[in-house]
Amino acid sequence: MQEINNLWNIVLEKLELSVSNVSFVMWFNPLKVVDFSSNNVLYLCAKSTFAKNQILKNYFDKLKSAVDEVFGENIEIEIFDPSEEKEYISKNKPKSVSKEIDSSKNPFNTKYTFNNFVVGKCNQTAYAAAKAVAENPGKSFNPLFIYGGVGLGKTHLLHAIGNFIRESKPNLKIKYVTCEQFTNDYIESLGSAGKTKTYSEFRDKYRKCDVLMVDDIQFISKKTSTQEEFFNTFNDLHQFGKQIIISSDRPPKEIETLEERLRSRFTMGLIQDLQSPDFETRVAILRKKCQIEKYSISEDAISYIAEKIDSNVRELEGMLSKVCFLSNLIGKTLADINDVKEAFSDKYEEKNEGGKTADQIINAVCEYFDITKNDIVGKKKSKDIVEPRMIAIYMISDMLELPLVSIGKIFGGRDHTTIMHARDKISTELKTNRKTQTFVSEIKKMLTSG
Ligand code: ADP
Ligand code: MG
Repeated sequence: MQEINNLWNIVLEKLELSVSNVSFVMWFNPLKVVDFSSNNVLYLCAKSTFAKNQILKNYFDKLKSAVDEVFGENIEIEIFDPSEEKEYISKNKPKSVSKEIDSSKNPFNTKYTFNNFVVGKCNQTAYAAAKAVAENPGKSFNPLFIYGGVGLGKTHLLHAIGNFIRESKPNLKIKYVTCEQFTNDYIESLGSAGKTKTYSEFRDKYRKCDVLMVDDIQFISKKTSTQEEFFNTFNDLHQFGKQIIISSDRPPKEIETLEERLRSRFTMGLIQDLQSPDFETRVAILRKKCQIEKYSISEDAISYIAEKIDSNVRELEGMLSKVCFLSNLIGKTLADINDVKEAFSDKYEEKNEGGKTADQIINAVCEYFDITKNDIVGKKKSKDIVEPRMIAIYMISDMLELPLVSIGKIFGGRDHTTIMHARDKISTELKTNRKTQTFVSEIKKMLTSG
């Protein structure tokens, strides 16, 4: 596996040269190798379902060709999101090995706790209800139905309940699934050919638990058999005082696919909604996140983010981590308002609309000056190499706006101050020196025509 990770690092290096910096930072760098199977399938995990879909939609070909180049031909790539990864690990790793198994046993994200949930007007009743249910499962509100728009903390609250009960009542069996998992599980248990699970296993799994959570119930299919199965499961559990918790992006009466009898079951307990956080709550959420992730960022930068993103907490967090990541990459210890503005502008992506990559720029410079790529990224100090090298550094920095640290990496691991010096030198020369102006403009022409 160590060897696979080494190969993967080479893949990453290749990708870094062939895609824009933002794409690299956002999509490729966070990818993690899960497994490399004997039949040549490379299993990767993206940091979220969103990231997974982005990669599949926009970057799969790049990924595939980099992997093929490094691993050799004919590697199949399978990308998981974090929950699929968990499932894969629990299915494929033998029970006896490693701590990974133990952590995969806990289906709850340990960061999603009540302590880490910031309470404001927008969510205080839903929070209180979740807390009451966690303290007295089956005895306060049953079912508890939490609804609210995307990224407002439904999954967080469900996991918080799960984490809380695991701690306080470790003997209770808690089952957490997304609606989709429930449906797939059910269908799989019915299938005949080559089936791995039987219907009775399915029943046991869902009816012998003390707490059942179903996330995103709005995805329940119209198929009556699935709804019927869920209806029966619900009744069975409810009748024996087992806790049921359901989340949805809208209230029961607005879920079109829901059968009437289920809808009325959902209204038996307590229905609570999550609203978009107000400005103060958004600031508090960002501060909390900084504390958890140990980010350092200035107060005005936090306010700026909280002002600009006003509905979705997931986006709020995403922007915060993007800002801190980028600021860190250029060697800053405290992210400030400039980093935020930078991250908000789509400059990176716009700038790179011509689709040029660092690699292409380097190739063009090499061709123009008739030197090799090894020379330009290497250590040679003769003038006929140093000047093209500085021009390449300048052009990459100017055209792609790559952070200095990343450019340093491309040029054989040079320090970011060296890169800065080269960039500034060329940028000054361009103001007065005819020769430098010609070099740069001719190389640019090569890039746009080629
Ligand atoms: P949903 O399931 O409603 O789409 P999530 O529960 O996945 O949303 O929340 C999205 C992100 O926002 C998560 O990282 C979660 O921790 C965070 N989040 C949402 N609400 C809060 C809050 N009140 N306090 C702290 N973090 C929150
Ligand atoms: Mg969710």
